[in-house]
Amino acid sequence: MHKHLSPPPSSTPAPCRPGRFGGTPLLLGTLWALPLVGAPAPDQCHVYWGDVHGHTRLSDGKGTLDDYFTYARDVAKLDFVIVSDHDFGNGEPWWMPRENWTRTQAKADEYTTDGRFVALAGYEWTSQPKYWTEVGPDTPSERLFPGPPKHYNHKNVYFPAGVDHLLCAKDPAYMSPNLLAQAVAKLGGLIHNNHPDSTPEGEDQFAYDPAYSTVIANTELLPDTLQYQGKTHQVNGEQTVRGFLNRGGRTGFVAGTDSHEGKPAARTAVLAPELTRAAVFDALRHRRNYAVTNARILLDFRLNGHLLGEEFEIEGKPRLVAEVRGTDMLDEVALIRDGVILYSISPKARSTRLEYVDQSFEGTSYYYLRVIQADKDEHGNRSHAWSSPIWVKSAE
Ligand SMILES: [Zn+2]
Ligand SMILES: [Zn+2]
Repeated sequence: MHKHLSPPPSSTPAPCRPGRFGGTPLLLGTLWALPLVGAPAPDQCHVYWGDVHGHTRLSDGKGTLDDYFTYARDVAKLDFVIVSDHDFGNGEPWWMPRENWTRTQAKADEYTTDGRFVALAGYEWTSQPKYWTEVGPDTPSERLFPGPPKHYNHKNVYFPAGVDHLLCAKDPAYMSPNLLAQAVAKLGGLIHNNHPDSTPEGEDQFAYDPAYSTVIANTELLPDTLQYQGKTHQVNGEQTVRGFLNRGGRTGFVAGTDSHEGKPAARTAVLAPELTRAAVFDALRHRRNYAVTNARILLDFRLNGHLLGEEFEIEGKPRLVAEVRGTDMLDEVALIRDGVILYSISPKARSTRLEYVDQSFEGTSYYYLRVIQADKDEHGNRSHAWSSPIWVKSAE
């Protein structure tokens, strides 16, 4: 039976229409159902899975572009993938030669088939202090720039259509996040912050004009602690990103394997009406995406009917609704407001629904949903999922 949602709010992102190309329907799309009364189409996004970060032998990874895209499509069964070799550093050649960038774009086009698989050509803008100043005798490298080191970290850059040359971290014209964002915006591209780092110096990675949050739309998310080869590592991934949000920053959440073995996997879900490059790009631009660490957890998180990633005004108190379908027992589903857990449940079931009216809302807040599942990867990390935040302000 056809169902549709409550009337869509008037907001920036394009409304989602039914997916022509498969994908998983949004959970609340059916659970918030109203009878279809003469409407031509249900307003419905589908979930498509991808990886937004990975390398080939064009920089410091293994395998060719063909290997990467073939693995993503046929082995990992992804709907979309971004390839992101380093533009500078991390091995010879120190600059990505122009022909490699041209080849990356041509291969992404070759592998893209609407409705089946979308490949996006990107690169990893690589700026790190070790290339800035004193390079030890064991680290032979060209240098970035003289002067005090900047900790801009790495950012992935990608474009919906071909661009002539990449905007390299080694080029003075694109050496800072502001300069890069300005240039990428002109070309219609997008950027996300990679593997944010919680060192005090790592704040440089978020030191860009807030106006560029429409270009630097997302940030890769990791848990605060990670088990790796029997040791616990305090990476403070979520905490670092929360710090940026708490300072008024705007960013959606993505995740990537950063595979150097040519093995991309499902880490980012986008909500899009269809599987085309333009639709995936549009979802990422509007932060209609969420991040997972391992399992393909389905989550649908809305505030007063608005989708994740949105920013808008409301009258009255926010009504938050989440529907989660895990692949194992859900240990925790937490609603986070302004960096602090506002409400959480421990469903101990594979799926759950959470509904919460925030009576203590004081006029402006951001909210996101975090899910932790019981299953563990080979190092002992439980599966996580994080929705992009929703920002809301009182209209009164
Ligand atoms: Zn990196
Ligand atoms: Zn990388």
